Amino acid sequence: MVRYVKMDPPELAPRDIVTRSMMTEIEEGRGFVGPWGPYLNVEVTHLNARIIEERLGGSRELAQSFAEIDPERKPIPVILAQHYSMGWISTGNEGETCVPGVFAAGESACVSIHVANRLGGNSILETLVFGRRVRINAERYGREAVTPVNDVLITREAADWEAFIEDMCSREGGKETCTLETELQKTME
Ligand SMILES: Cc1cc2nc3c(=O)[nH]c(=O)nc-3n(C[C@H](O)[C@H](O)[C@H](O)COP(=O)(O)OP(=O)(O)OC[C@H]3O[C@@H](n4cnc5c(N)ncnc54)[C@H](O)[C@@H]3O)c2cc1C
Repeated sequence: MVRYVKMDPPELAPRDIVTRSMMTEIEEGRGFVGPWGPYLNVEVTHLNARIIEERLGGSRELAQSFAEIDPERKPIPVILAQHYSMGWISTGNEGETCVPGVFAAGESACVSIHVANRLGGNSILETLVFGRRVRINAERYGREAVTPVNDVLITREAADWEAFIEDMCSREGGKETCTLETELQKTME
């Protein structure tokens, strides 16, 4: 199934290679068609129950809750989906934002270490490294109180965003957001 790089065993290929391969299978007509559109099946019925329980416990739970499927008996239907948001709160290296006293780390933050395609595993690393930095920085900030948390600034910032969003929502004419979303999805795919 994985065509881009020969890996042994192939299921250890990186996530973006696996997802691109999955898309190729679908586009070339080797997928299944369900009520929500095309999908693929992940087959683990050949593994013994103990291995599924020990190593694939999370996946098993997801298959049971979302598809009502017991992976010990039936293949799991899967489709590509977004599973990560490149954060958008711009921060410096210590998690500081443009609002003094407000810090961000993890998926909500954009410290710009992932560029356009986050590599597998780096998210947990990011939350640990920058979570710790934010903790130290925020604690220092609280202790030294260099600039007190500025409610006025936060309120003004929130009001600016509110006005920006209201302006976007009340515009007439132009492109529909759903059209833009579809174009964006196609371009990204
Ligand atoms: C299926 C899947 C597999 C993944 N696998 C990996 C992997 O193998 N390796 C890896 O590095 N990364 C992986 N990731 C990504 C990684 O898990 C996440 O990026 C990471 O957990 C984000 O941590 P976070 O603390 O920034 O955000 P989250 O873990 O999303 O924490 C945010 C918290 O804020 C809470 N919250 C939200 N809104 C509010 C509110 N208004 N008030 C109070 N609380 C609120 C939420 O309930 C949540 O507890 C995976 C993600 C998914 C979905």
